[in-house]
Amino acid sequence: MEHTNPIQISPADRMAGLPAQFFAGLVSKANAQAAKGRDVINLGQGNPDRPTPPHIVAALQEAALNPLYHRYSPFRGYPFLKKAIVQRYKEDYGVNLDPETEVAILFGGKTGLIEISQCLLNPGDVCLVPDPGYPDYWSGVALAGGRMEYMPLTADNRFLPDYDAVPIEAADKAKLMFINYPNNPTGAVADADFYSRTVEFSARHGIVVASDFAYGALGFDGAKPISFLQTPGANEVGIEFYTLSKTYNMAGWRVGFALGNPEIISLINLMQDHYYCSLFGGIQAAAAAALTGPQACVAELTSVYESRRNALFGALAGIGWQADKPGGSFFCWLPVPKGFSSAEFADILLERADVVVAPGIGFGEFGEHYVRLGLLAPEARLEEAINRIGGLGLFG
Ligand code: PLP
Repeated sequence: MEHTNPIQISPADRMAGLPAQFFAGLVSKANAQAAKGRDVINLGQGNPDRPTPPHIVAALQEAALNPLYHRYSPFRGYPFLKKAIVQRYKEDYGVNLDPETEVAILFGGKTGLIEISQCLLNPGDVCLVPDPGYPDYWSGVALAGGRMEYMPLTADNRFLPDYDAVPIEAADKAKLMFINYPNNPTGAVADADFYSRTVEFSARHGIVVASDFAYGALGFDGAKPISFLQTPGANEVGIEFYTLSKTYNMAGWRVGFALGNPEIISLINLMQDHYYCSLFGGIQAAAAAALTGPQACVAELTSVYESRRNALFGALAGIGWQADKPGGSFFCWLPVPKGFSSAEFADILLERADVVVAPGIGFGEFGEHYVRLGLLAPEARLEEAINRIGGLGLFG
């Protein structure tokens, strides 16, 4: 029977304002290729491939039996989880936070990245976003009816925004800005000097800083990424988003935090009081076990990604594809050979080498001329992917 709606469904304007999901097309092309029976190597997404460490899974198994957790959790989450993230920040970064007022528990970092724009932006308000950058920043700004001003990230400036290049009117109008180091998609890392300049710029123009520290645990060559909150004055101007997704391979568990300025944290908490009850208590118990338990798994994971990075760059050198190694995250940002757009090049790699990469244009205009590869397959598969690409004869 044909279905006809008895009423007309007309979406709110804000739905039309949502940016197109660029990577959805990529996923369906990759699936179509795999459905033909091809051996597709998918390096296009950012989904950690390794399992959650067993002691964290065991903590969930045990906690699942606790009837307390079968009931609604406290609206703003269990205090033990807030204390656990505070302890981790103290140990890892020497940052002191008040678990009561400077922590909000999130359903993954993504949720907070969307919420902050809704908490701070009125329609027409300006938000500074990195270009290239993680597309969820755009989604939050679009839902709030805000306007984006892009801060180009270029190789010449080590993929850091150049605050002197932000037009003064945009800086004065901006209410919020996003920064993200270790960076998705470029793999760049930030130093203390950059964060000091960020605090100074934000204080001068009255802009709230949202530091996305999703890849905070993943720094290479012995350099541990620093937290924005380590910067003097950071807590007065902004917050940091942290997530367990990458640090403990817990992407499916959906646990993240907003940390820092109490006024901003209270806005996020207030908004969340209306959207949700907090996460399942068992997940909160397991998240606390991750944060307070042995951290050797984190060091081990970092060295796995570092070895993969080195293997991939060895293969790249072998085929004459020149690029800079990432200092952190699990992404490699590789220049596209002349004569191709990033989307054309990604299509060629999929069609002719069965390798999925993310075209840089999906992260913004300044992402054109690059593709992003995730270090999310074993070394041998990464090497095979690059060797297949080498076989196309597009380099050197
Ligand atoms: N920020 C960046 C830059 C990311 O790449 C991701 C995930 O891919 C996130 C935030 C959000 O992660 P989650 O929602 O799993 O915490």
